Parts: sequence; structure tokens; C-alpha cells
Amino acid sequence: MPSFTERLRTGRVLMADGATGTNYQEMGIEPGVAPEEWVFEAPDRVGDLHRRFAQAGSDLVLTCTFGGSPLRLLDGPLAGRAAELNARAAGLAREAVGADVLVAGSIGPTGQLPDPLGTLTQDDAVATFAEQARALAEGGVDLIVLETFFALEEALWAAEAVRSISDLPLVMSFSFDQGARTMMGLSPGDVSAAAAPLDLAGIGANCGRSLADTARNVAEYVEAAPAPALWVKPNAGVPQVVAEGVVYPEDPDSFARKVAQLARAGARIVGGCCGSTPEHLAALRRELDRL
Ligand SMILES: [Zn+2]
Repeated sequence: MPSFTERLRTGRVLMADGATGTNYQEMGIEPGVAPEEWVFEAPDRVGDLHRRFAQAGSDLVLTCTFGGSPLRLLDGPLAGRAAELNARAAGLAREAVGADVLVAGSIGPTGQLPDPLGTLTQDDAVATFAEQARALAEGGVDLIVLETFFALEEALWAAEAVRSISDLPLVMSFSFDQGARTMMGLSPGDVSAAAAPLDLAGIGANCGRSLADTARNVAEYVEAAPAPALWVKPNAGVPQVVAEGVVYPEDPDSFARKVAQLARAGARIVGGCCGSTPEHLAALRRELDRL
């Protein structure tokens, strides 16, 4: 099977998968239950969502381990089970999608702010992310994706941790949820400059705010011209609160057209974040096949 870097080298735009959390809500996860709990409690449904994204045409799927660092799990029912969780989630994804679809190990922030604004120290961050990355690597992932980061220090510590345990291709993606910047004030230009020495396989944006904001994030990345491939997974629009709960306004066709536009603008790996279903990704596949 061609590796992530070999697939990128072909010049073809790769399609990642869509959301985890919002699709689990559709599939019946109870409020307050972390998606990672389903790796043990509902592995069939975790595998089912991976399979539906693979059937929609995704070239890669992300493991259900976004909140799976030992630190992030500390106060919940999976405390102390990070190694088991991450290895099992990697295995579930591989079983679901087979050998031809890549499995990316998802790593999200710890939920703590870096010192001195918060309590997260470099030593603790490196230790927690290294434990998570080691279990993902042992579980057989093809690459590691640091996603939805907002603080530069934490992302750099996570990258250091991943590199300390493996040579897997590494992607670093930030959530520019203030529109042009992350919650901690970072712009795509800041991220590109800070990541330059890291020899990343991918760099980019996920979650964030509107698709128009993401288009601006992409334009800023393109202007900064980072060496790594541009990775973009936006939400299906800005969530709106209605009587039935939260809805995402972009339907599959309009989402697909707008995300394909991001690929035309320079994104090399595209997919979806919150609110994007397998139907959104199937529509995106059709658009990308026309590029
Ligand atoms: Zn999201």
C-alpha cells in the first residue's frame, strides 16, 4: 500500500474523513459520554463510522483518540487506560477500512493551557503525548495528526513527543476559531514560521469557524508557502442552535463545492470536521474527482 508521503507525491488531492463527535451524536452517544468511551463500549459503531467514510471515498480516516492523551483522560472513566485505548482505536480503524485506506492517529490538546497561563509544563506535555503516540504507533497507524490545537507551545511539545518515539509522517493542524486566528492569537503565518524546522508532512487548519473563514486561513497559509502539504478539515458551517438542538448549515453538495474550492486554492488533503457526515464526504469525493 502506498504510504501517506507517496500518495502526496502523486499530486492527487487526498480526502480525509469527516467528523467523529457529531456523527456519534446521530448514532446515539449519550450526552456527557466522551467519544473515546465508545472504543470500548461500542466498538462496532466506531468501526461502522470508519467504514462509511472509507466507502465515501476517504483516503484516510482518523482514530477515535482525539481526547485520548493520558492527561486528557485523567478525570474521566478512562483514566489510566490511555495506552490500551489508543492501541485498540488504531486496531479498530484498521479492521474497519482494510489495507488500502490510511489510518491516521488523532491527537488533540490536553485541555490545559501551557505554563505560565495554565498548569501544563513541557515535561508533562511531552510525557503525555509520547505515551499516546507510542500506543498509536504500536497499534499500526500510518501517520499522526495533531489536530484542533490552539496554543503554539502545546503543539510544539506534542510534535517533540511524537518525534521522540517514531518517524511516522506528522501533520499539525490548528483551529482558527476566532476567524483569522486561534484562541491564543496565532495566525497561519505564525504557525508556518514556527513549524518550519519540524520537517512536517502536513500543516493546516481544522474545525475553526465558517467556511469563508477557512478559505481565508488557506489563503494565508498559501501566502506563507510552508514546505509541508496543506491539510484542511473545516466544519460544515457555523453551528446554529434550533429547537431540536445544534445543526450545521452546509448540506453535502454546498459543503463539497466549498471544500473543493479550498483544494483548488492549494489544500492537498481535505476533509470535514464538526457536522460533516459520510454523505458530505461522498459529495466531496465527487467534486475532487472532477478537479
Ligand atoms: Zn470541529
